[in-house]
Amino acid sequence: MVPTPPPAPSIPSAMRTPYVGGNWKMNTDRAAAVALAAAVARSAADPATASTCHVAIFPPFPYLIPCADALRAANASVVLGAQDVYHAEKGAFTGEVSPLMLRDCGVSAVLCGHSERRHVLHEGDDMVSAKVRASLAAGLAVVLCVGEKLEQRLTGQTDTVNERQVRLGLREVAPDLLARIVIAYEPVWAIGTGKVASPDDAQDAHAKIRAVIADMFGQPHADALRIIYGGSVTGHNAAGLFSMPDIDGGLIGGASLKPDEFAAIIHAAARRAHRS
Ligand code: PEP
Repeated sequence: MVPTPPPAPSIPSAMRTPYVGGNWKMNTDRAAAVALAAAVARSAADPATASTCHVAIFPPFPYLIPCADALRAANASVVLGAQDVYHAEKGAFTGEVSPLMLRDCGVSAVLCGHSERRHVLHEGDDMVSAKVRASLAAGLAVVLCVGEKLEQRLTGQTDTVNERQVRLGLREVAPDLLARIVIAYEPVWAIGTGKVASPDDAQDAHAKIRAVIADMFGQPHADALRIIYGGSVTGHNAAGLFSMPDIDGGLIGGASLKPDEFAAIIHAAARRAHRS
């Protein structure tokens, strides 16, 4: 009988580089977007955070190229991401933007399944899954957003909703592509409301999502995957959230529009990286 190989060693959470993304949503104008990108570039270059934290910005579509120019001018290591993408390569899809078009504009990451796309624009799991696969195939990194609505939380469905969104979102994704994926757990009731999840509640959801990844792809992949929290993160509450073992950073909406606040969140994530 062939002996079962020993399991690969787990990756300690400290080895997952923290990730902080700023989702600007439908905010800023062109000048404000460029100024904000330049400010984020300065924060990310701070010796206290540089190389210990991955920082990304997700500006509105029309400002991607000016922001790419601003990041290039600042010689910044900040990842430029888009807030959405369509899964087809090209063709008769009026108003949509393909993964290759995003690459052509200097974009290297994309949000898939943000709650505002799921619940305001009625995107289903099949659409989210198609977007994830098309983005990965085009060489983009993906931040897959999942999370329960308030009524689902109140009726004890948090973990089943997260599990369904993770399993369907990552359906048919090859394990070796997981290195280009970050999962953002964003309880819908916490997004833009000022009602942040407690560190313990968020940790519980993150640990369960990581267990789903372990079941789908194996423990080493689960240990290596970054799972970040989103929903009313501020410079004040970030450190408490990021101190939890399975919370590897944050996806930030409102606070990402304020350069000082976003810088404080980046610093909190970098401190996570420095702890042993
Ligand atoms: C988001 O839009 O992903 C988000 C987390 O928003 P906010 O930080 O404003 O709650």
